[in-house]
Amino acid sequence: MIGAVDIGGTKIAVGIVDDSGAVLAKVESPTAGERGYADGLARITGMLREAARKAGAEISGIGIGSTGWVYSFTGEFGDVDFLPLWKGCNPVADLGRAFAVRVALENDGDAAALGEAGWGAGRGKRRLIYVTVGTGIGGGIILDGQLYRGVDRSHPEVGHHVIDASGPPCTCGFRGCWEALATGPAMAAWYKSNGGGHGMHRGALGAKEIFQLARDGDACARRAVERETYYLGLGLANLIGLFVPDMIVLGGSVMKSVRLEDLRGVIAQGCRFVPWEKTELALASLGEDANLIGAARVWHYRFGDGTETAA
Ligand SMILES: [Zn+2]
Repeated sequence: MIGAVDIGGTKIAVGIVDDSGAVLAKVESPTAGERGYADGLARITGMLREAARKAGAEISGIGIGSTGWVYSFTGEFGDVDFLPLWKGCNPVADLGRAFAVRVALENDGDAAALGEAGWGAGRGKRRLIYVTVGTGIGGGIILDGQLYRGVDRSHPEVGHHVIDASGPPCTCGFRGCWEALATGPAMAAWYKSNGGGHGMHRGALGAKEIFQLARDGDACARRAVERETYYLGLGLANLIGLFVPDMIVLGGSVMKSVRLEDLRGVIAQGCRFVPWEKTELALASLGEDANLIGAARVWHYRFGDGTETAA
């Protein structure tokens, strides 16, 4: 039984995940990064013990998936937007000591990619890219069954390739990144600034509502959906052009509303120098707990039935 820890911008979820990827028990807490690292570590430790008690399980290893820049092999946290006070802290070492088990850490995009590759929609695919589209765009790349790592074992950011250099500014420093154009908030911002949602309760207008308005015949919402589909499709076309993977698995809240055949329509407009039709598009299959399940898979990938070769 693996103790799984998913550290996100708003919450920390902890669970017990069995060897088939099923979540047996789950406990959550707000991230509350301003309370510092010692507080966060104490909460994670307490939640792991509580989840293990609920599941009637003994923790034999711990896997962590975390937002932001983390050093997978030293276990240290780098510059994470939501957790500035955690910089340089090492939950891998600290949880390893507290539970006397081995602990593995990855960026949450890589963790979810490993989860979908091991237990989800991407099972058995040698070349797999996972993309999540929600309030941000993130993901992970698996090539020949191995998680792709960059120099210094870094995590590539699929959300930060530039789609339109004249687009809105991005947090990374460029303008018009995929993440600046095709996330749920980007879609909502475009809709509002183009006159959509007049006379409506504006606070509640997110991507999901705009997709619904488009289905109800709202002309501005339809344009917002067309624009969203086009930018999502362009980003996918870029990934297909660069990697021609067996499959791209798509997760995140925005993907609940997008039609895959519409994305394929965009991809078909270009990509003529690669066999793009052979790259399958599939929706993520691990559901709401995808990141938690992915965190458990991180442990299996690093220490379990052993797929990771020396980097
Ligand atoms: Zn960017």
